[in-house]
Amino acid sequence: MSERKYGLFVGGEWRDALSGGTFGVTNPSTGDTVATVPDGGAADVREAIEAAANAQLEWGRTTAGERAGILAEVARLVRGRAGHLARVMTLEQGKPLAQSEGEVLYAASCLERFAEEARRVRGETMPADSSEKRIFLLKRPVGVAAAVTPWNFPASSVALKVGAAFAAGCAMVVKPSEIAPLSALELAGAFEDAGLPKGVLSVVTGMDPADLASAIMEDRRVRKLSFTGSTEVGKLLMRAASDTVKRLSLELGGHAPFIVFEDADVGEAVEDVVSSKMRNAGQTCISANRIFVQREIEEEFSRLLVERVGEMKVGDGLGDGVEVGPLIEPAAVEKVERHVANAKAKGATVALGGGRIEGRGNFFEPTVLRGTDDSMLVTREETFGPVAAILPFDTEDEVVRRANDSNYGLAAYYFTRDVGRAWRLAEELEYGILGANDGLPATDQTPSGGLKESGFGREGGRYGVEEYLDVKCLSLGRVSGKRKA
Ligand code: NAD
Repeated sequence: MSERKYGLFVGGEWRDALSGGTFGVTNPSTGDTVATVPDGGAADVREAIEAAANAQLEWGRTTAGERAGILAEVARLVRGRAGHLARVMTLEQGKPLAQSEGEVLYAASCLERFAEEARRVRGETMPADSSEKRIFLLKRPVGVAAAVTPWNFPASSVALKVGAAFAAGCAMVVKPSEIAPLSALELAGAFEDAGLPKGVLSVVTGMDPADLASAIMEDRRVRKLSFTGSTEVGKLLMRAASDTVKRLSLELGGHAPFIVFEDADVGEAVEDVVSSKMRNAGQTCISANRIFVQREIEEEFSRLLVERVGEMKVGDGLGDGVEVGPLIEPAAVEKVERHVANAKAKGATVALGGGRIEGRGNFFEPTVLRGTDDSMLVTREETFGPVAAILPFDTEDEVVRRANDSNYGLAAYYFTRDVGRAWRLAEELEYGILGANDGLPATDQTPSGGLKESGFGREGGRYGVEEYLDVKCLSLGRVSGKRKA
């Protein structure tokens, strides 16, 4: 791709930042600048909010069918452009092209799902205590909403928020990550082409996220914020939201346990742990971070995992057959190095990989660590890299306690053939997304979201739309008035 210049999408127009500034988007595989985008600031965000507030009343009056039609058309356009969108994503974010295509198609299926869910928003009636009254519960859009999204899923994180907001009838201002902002701008182009009314969607890019976010958080017209990103930033936004009492959905960090019992099919567990761990080079919130393996099978499991991970091709995401791309930036490589060094110093052994790959790009070897324990950085903090840490365990009670010993509560996986145990763990593991004999449990119809410091609120399908709806209660009185006359 020649270096392309993008604009901000504000109030239905593509334009430069008010400051006139721009910044470059870097390909993590090469260090090359692949595009420039406007360096928007608080004043640009305020214009976007103004446009959304002006569009909100009419947008809230559209029928569910009209909104569903636009969402379905955008999904169709996204599918048609999947090749281009996947390439843009790989260039800005690094993930292998097949994974980028998978994410783009997933974004399209989320938009299709929201087109269906728009038609299924329902209120309620309930019996009143007086024969003179009737009670109705109405579901209404919360009003103008804002989205702040991360770099690791630059298209699906936007589709999950915009699709749900539009199904509910909310206008939305999106602030994508400054590290990978192109996919969000491309999606805005698809919404424009699908005939979305002006002002209903704006996308504002900029290098200073705190400045952009402060304009969102201070504005009383923004009634709802949906944030996906780190727990650290989520906490800042939660504090900021209190000033205007905004509704919040927070999709934050995770530290997923992946538990393999001795009765599991070890080969299947290895396949699924590899997809969960190595997808996006380990840079996902639901990545398997602590791989608990029952002691009886730890040797066999580790051998198979090392064999399988050792075959993985690492390289530029545009390359043929590449399964593991680069990390997002040099600081991410340093963090993974720090985690591996800490594990080694505390007694873990490196069964595979263990170091950065010298040369261009931010590459780290797919790594397997054995003999890790609960005290290491790799088992306490998000590593966000291709490092599989194996922890032996002995009993079910022990592993449930250890798996729950985390401030995070996003995703957990376990492999067992014992149905009773599968139920017990579903009840006892303190995680919002559970995969029993399933390393890829998230789909477009299921609600995804965390417990504890992984946040609150759900994204996807019907539950995702509820996040953008207020419940209003109408009491209709003097019902028998006519009969009296
Ligand atoms: P991040 O928190 O650094 O950034 C997320 C967004 O917040 C970006 O748009 C960024 O520009 C913005 N931001 C950064 N600093 C800010 C500030 N001071 N004020 C306001 N906004 C600010 O996270 P990231 O590195 O982009 O993404 C990785 C993190 O996201 C990981 O912790 C991962 O687990 C989490 N994540 C969670 C989910 C989920 O569904 N729960 C999904 C994807 C990623």
